[in-house]
Amino acid sequence: MSVQFKSTRGDKTLITASQAIVKGISGDGGLYVPCAIPKIDFELKKILEMSYKELAYEVLKLIISDFTEEELKYCIEKAYDSKFDTDLIAPLKTAGGEHFLELFHGKTLAFKDMALSILPYLLKTAAKKNGVNEKIVILTATSGDTGKAALEGFADVDDTKIIVFFPEDGVSPVQKRQMVTQTGKNTCVAGIKGNFDDAQTAVKQIFTDKKLNEELKSKGYIFSSANSINIGRLAPQIVYYFFAYAQMVKNGEINFGEKINFTVPTGNFGDILAGYYAKEMGLPVDKLICASNDNKVLYDFFKTGIYNINREFVVTSSPSMDILISSNLERLLYHICENTETVKSLMENLGSDKKYDFKVSSDYVIGEYASHKETFDAIKELYDKSGYIIDTHTAVAFAAYKKYKDKTKDETKNVVVSTASPYKFAKDVCRAIDSKYDSLDPFEALDILSDLWKEDIPKTIKGIDKREILHKTVIEKSEIKTFIQNYLH
Ligand SMILES: *Cc1c(COP(=O)(O)O)cnc(C)c1O
Repeated sequence: MSVQFKSTRGDKTLITASQAIVKGISGDGGLYVPCAIPKIDFELKKILEMSYKELAYEVLKLIISDFTEEELKYCIEKAYDSKFDTDLIAPLKTAGGEHFLELFHGKTLAFKDMALSILPYLLKTAAKKNGVNEKIVILTATSGDTGKAALEGFADVDDTKIIVFFPEDGVSPVQKRQMVTQTGKNTCVAGIKGNFDDAQTAVKQIFTDKKLNEELKSKGYIFSSANSINIGRLAPQIVYYFFAYAQMVKNGEINFGEKINFTVPTGNFGDILAGYYAKEMGLPVDKLICASNDNKVLYDFFKTGIYNINREFVVTSSPSMDILISSNLERLLYHICENTETVKSLMENLGSDKKYDFKVSSDYVIGEYASHKETFDAIKELYDKSGYIIDTHTAVAFAAYKKYKDKTKDETKNVVVSTASPYKFAKDVCRAIDSKYDSLDPFEALDILSDLWKEDIPKTIKGIDKREILHKTVIEKSEIKTFIQNYLH
């Protein structure tokens, strides 16, 4: 049975998964959602015997259902190989009695690799299936991690170009250095004077700019997206929720069939939405705890029913979550109300009034947040107790989970989704452990962290401060469109 996709904002056209992957976003500005979320068609217990790749096939075939078995298996084989530094791909670690799903074993040390290792293959296969002959230009707005993961995924992939915009002053020194040293003749990286929301809004406008799209089509280009607005980014993220569950059973933490919670450090709401899909598909999940940092729009929203971005944007130590407009929430709203007119008007309100009202009736997506201090304390406490080190984003989730548990006394087993290697945010992690590191050089911090953790610095960032800077452009946010036009001319 083939799953069809439609826009969250009312465009009635139904398209296949492969078409949705090529397009990225609907022409009416909406996001593509499956008309019905498929249920797993295999016996759940089988996941206990599956490797990551086998599981990826069983899950992805349900969503990306117009790919042939051969096509899908080819993409999976290419993606989850020795680029990852562990055969498990997504190992579950237990430290201090808590469980962490480590999603940072790919090339760029953040969970974005889980999807961006496969997206280029999905996209090329999808383009071929649909007879697309144009070159695909991947436009990406990044809060720090998507940019690098997309660059690694698409660098030197034939018939593609990739353009990345990142907030010049809103990413960690390691994140920035990873992006501006990117090689590959089809890569383009620019800093913008603005924040992630500015970059994402500009990029979304470009996708729906009919005139620009026609102009580029005549030059042989089409745009697509590597952000989690692309269903090809979202679908691969569902897999690791199943994989985490299997490991919890195999490690004897839970009985098969028992429900568990996941706490997810959230920015654009992509990761946690994949958890929502996993639950809807049949994974025994009880609560999904949506953890925010000091930019706690989502926490306020789940609590009050008012999504309000009329507020100060805070630059935090978890920059990949410094987001006020969480794009994928639009998909959750749609799945809850199943009414595209409602979603469309909410999104219009967000555009005009910077807020909207919508009471989420779901009792299993729960908002929580952690302040700067709570986040740093969580890193230190876990380190002192177990020697295990988590990054600042994972620490937001861990601290938020502890608050949730204190408030609710919920004893359900919980998995904290660990989204980045602490090396990407080495300086802040060291500072959290000991304030004597407050004025540490951000690259020196890599060595200090390695000593504290007794783990080697990952190869992909070792000596990164000595690599040549290849991308030096910084532009105003208003110049994004012209910049793209000039680059493609
Ligand atoms: C992107 C990112 C997040 C937020 O994930 P969303 O899917 O945008 O909610 C959290 N932590 C890290 C390290 C990230 O890179």
